Amino acid sequence: MDSFDPRKKSPPTILQSKELHNYILETSVYPREPAALKEIREATAGHSHAFFSAAPDVGQLIAMMLKLVNAKKTIEIGVFTGYSLLATALNIPEDGEIIAIDPNRENFEIGAPIMEKAGVMKKIKFIESQALPILDKLLEDKSNEESFDFVFVDADKYNYYNYHQRVIKLVKVGGLLMYDNTLLGGAVVAPEAKVEDFRRLHWHGIIEFNKAVATDDRVELCHIPSGDGTIICRRLR
Ligand code: SAH
Ligand code: CA
Repeated sequence: MDSFDPRKKSPPTILQSKELHNYILETSVYPREPAALKEIREATAGHSHAFFSAAPDVGQLIAMMLKLVNAKKTIEIGVFTGYSLLATALNIPEDGEIIAIDPNRENFEIGAPIMEKAGVMKKIKFIESQALPILDKLLEDKSNEESFDFVFVDADKYNYYNYHQRVIKLVKVGGLLMYDNTLLGGAVVAPEAKVEDFRRLHWHGIIEFNKAVATDDRVELCHIPSGDGTIICRRLR
């Protein structure tokens, strides 16, 4: 398998043919990508970790999901320079709110002026921290339970199930949880011995998460091969 090499700068995809992913991007995504999102993408392109950004087709999927559930209050775990954050901010109402958590403020600062210019900064509450303690803090206040419409999880993959156990309580029944990189460049079907060292922890996390969430009867789910793979869960009860 021609697996995704994260050191390459093109957007992440698990499609075996880069041409096919480019076809999707050129035909369906880039022509309708908001100017501010394009600006973040371009401001991030020279970054040594540019491949961290959510794939533009995933950004488009986020926008659609937010609109379908009329999302107003959301959480984002793993912000980087803000591509998915801005995709979210542009698709919730003026009085919407995003709690955006990332221990790295420096990267957030790259996208911040663009989000400011787009007029969406007032919707964004950036918290410079690891996500788990913040989620636990939110859960200490009962009024936060079932109060969010949408959560986008895109941080340390070995914590995905730990995040799931918390955000499932924070999201409303009928609300959505979206997890990025669930196919990990195709590595989910590679034997462990073939997984590169830098990726092994994440690999374990994703494999375990994908298995566990598949049998979680609190949600219905859909595993979509957009970008680097995305699992969308809808809370059922
Ligand atoms: N959604 C972003 C990409 C996120 S990349 C975009 O579309 O651009 C993954 C991010 O997770 C990195 O910025 C990293 O700093 C952050 N991260 C790593 N460990 C984390 C943790 N424990 N809690 C929250 N964020 C974390
Ligand atoms: Ca990602």
